[in-house]
Amino acid sequence: MTQATPETKPYAPKVKERTVIVVRLGEITLKKKNRPFFVRQLGRNIRTALKGLPIKDTDWNPQRIVITPGAGFDWPELRSRLLRVFGLRNFSLCRVLPWDEDLIREGMLEMAAKEPFESFRVTVQRSDKRYPSTSQEMERSLGADVKAASGARVDLTKPEKTFQVEIMSNGAYLHTERINGAGGLPVGVSGRVVALLSGGIDSPVAAWRTLSRGCQVSFVHFQSFPYLDASSRDKAITLTESLTRWQYKSRLHVVSFGDIQHKIVAACPAPLRVVLYRRFMVRIAQAIAERERAEALVTGESLGQVASQTLSNMATIDQATTLPILRPLVGLDKESIIDEARAIETYETSIEPDQDCCTLFVPRNPATHSSVEQLIAAEEALDVDALVAEGLESVELLEFSWPEAS
Ligand code: ATP
Ligand code: MG
Repeated sequence: MTQATPETKPYAPKVKERTVIVVRLGEITLKKKNRPFFVRQLGRNIRTALKGLPIKDTDWNPQRIVITPGAGFDWPELRSRLLRVFGLRNFSLCRVLPWDEDLIREGMLEMAAKEPFESFRVTVQRSDKRYPSTSQEMERSLGADVKAASGARVDLTKPEKTFQVEIMSNGAYLHTERINGAGGLPVGVSGRVVALLSGGIDSPVAAWRTLSRGCQVSFVHFQSFPYLDASSRDKAITLTESLTRWQYKSRLHVVSFGDIQHKIVAACPAPLRVVLYRRFMVRIAQAIAERERAEALVTGESLGQVASQTLSNMATIDQATTLPILRPLVGLDKESIIDEARAIETYETSIEPDQDCCTLFVPRNPATHSSVEQLIAAEEALDVDALVAEGLESVELLEFSWPEAS
């Protein structure tokens, strides 16, 4: 008697058809030991960034994060929010289908019918090799169908549209676009810094650059109201609002600096004023950093841009604080900084006219060279601790969050 061999059915996962967003991780995939920590922080940041939108689920593993949106989700809005999350390499809006070539074909033709295109290619990636056909077989057969339906030509090197199928253990993922993310590291993995935020073009870009390296940023702005109008404070507020979109929660400390400047002007040599202003700014910023548990200061200085930004002045400014001063723009020219300011949408605010505290009592010939001895001698005429305390006393603390809880 022959024994009936049980028919072995090929493996196929149970799949509920759905739409998801697949997020591929950037540089954090390089971090070995810290990876779970980085991915968890990124997952948290994504959830915060998508607050108020219908999201059913956010699921993550070391390679990718899969977001399942709820019914009627607003793709352009979701997309624009994801574009502001650091740590994402790219992401795609995917249809998830069963392991069934007919359904995959149907799904692809539906995508192809959405808008016309002249050239295309089909790329199949079989991450789970239990799928019965090879990638090449599928690429050929699906490609032929798309060609017949659309009339477009196949172009393997520079296609206008790429139809991608990824065969994963839990379904076939179809998409036509990998949207580049912001890259960098998830905000929150690198500790906290305090950024000195003027109303100008440079400092918001410098702050943004540290955000992109995973720092949480607290802001401090110095204003000379009532000696000058409050326009620089208004700009600092608008800039903080813009930058909050990258880190979700911010604090802005506004320091009244006019009286301190007055005392500097009355007691110290004019050419040293600007460097003296800066030394007091970093002292006050350091005290704020202690409150904020921040480990460094950030400025928008760039070497040689203005008289106060020479190596020797930077060195004497550094001497006024024990915290490291990060200067992310030090090697950039103005044009590149402006391009970046435009890209992060702070430029329009920065170029609004204002009365910045640094324009108060600025001497005609500010020193391009200063020595610590000179500055210490000048500061002997001042009660440094009392002035720092006065600055701290004046702090107005403003809090920001984005997106608004809804
Ligand atoms: P920015 O465009 O950032 O104002 P800038 O080219 O005008 O820079 P400076 O005026 O020399 O340069 O200022 C150098 C840095 O000192 C700024 O980038 C900023 O970090 C800090 N700073 C200057 N003014 C203020 C201010 N009013 N409040 C806070 N920080 C300031
Ligand atoms: Mg300025």
